[in-house]
Amino acid sequence: MLDVCLLGTGGMMPLPHRFLTSAMMRYNGSNLLIDCGEGTQVAVKEKGWTFKPIDVVCFTHYHADHISGLPGLLLTMGNAERTNPLTMIGPRGLERVVSALRTIAPELPFEIRFLEITEPEADFELNGFYIHAFKVNHNVLCYGYTVEIRRAGRFQVDRAVENGIPQKIWSRLQKGETVFWEDGRAYTPAMVLGPARKGLKVTYCTDTRPTESIVRAAEGADLFLCEGMYAEKEKIVKAKQYKHMTFHEAAELAKRAGVKEMWLTHFSPSLLRAEEYMPGVREVFPNAFLGRDGKSVELLFEEE
Ligand SMILES: [Zn+2]
Ligand SMILES: [Zn+2]
Repeated sequence: MLDVCLLGTGGMMPLPHRFLTSAMMRYNGSNLLIDCGEGTQVAVKEKGWTFKPIDVVCFTHYHADHISGLPGLLLTMGNAERTNPLTMIGPRGLERVVSALRTIAPELPFEIRFLEITEPEADFELNGFYIHAFKVNHNVLCYGYTVEIRRAGRFQVDRAVENGIPQKIWSRLQKGETVFWEDGRAYTPAMVLGPARKGLKVTYCTDTRPTESIVRAAEGADLFLCEGMYAEKEKIVKAKQYKHMTFHEAAELAKRAGVKEMWLTHFSPSLLRAEEYMPGVREVFPNAFLGRDGKSVELLFEEE
């Protein structure tokens, strides 16, 4: 099971009831945060989730509306006496930007580990999260993220018995471990597991123009969180100028990527009555929804 929450849905500046864009995912006792604009802490509290299990923070880019909440969040995590290391992933400049923000949160009881992305695409595996970063097209270097939870094949007892695999190590093999046993043999998960089963996949992208990299990365995603800075189709000129998207463009991406469901986010502060634009959006991609602060979903594995 993977919990996903859109903590905030605002672009550029926070408004009452619309914090700046960030998303949190919870899996197996560990949390992953993507972006951390001003107000993210309050949004987490309002949702009733906690900071303590945040082990990974991914940044799309270093515009203030996506990172200015970080020093406060780090202080809170420090005050909660966190000692586990925190891993941050982001475009080039990550360590420099975070270190600059750290001058106002200098003493923390935990280590920060930096994973700077240097290529157009990069993959990371942390705490069961398979993270794929992909370059998008904004007016500064910017990445989107796909987060996957993979699922091993079913344990096949008959094969385990047939292959004479000691029962004592079944659970370790099931967890994906190769075991060098006392009988001198090596036992691998492939000896007892069926084909890998469908996992869970969430793709997050903001701020960007539509790109082929998004279509590729979001292919078949269970949930696609995509920016929709401008609702009106006519605002395409502005969207191109400021390197953002219209609702309509986001829907086209969702359709092409064949995702199951899309939530729009990162709304322009001037956008009111966004719901009025949704019928047009759903003509392109029927399973499109407006994000709202605190909107969340529990994604379940098939047959879970
Ligand atoms: Zn932004
Ligand atoms: Zn931006």
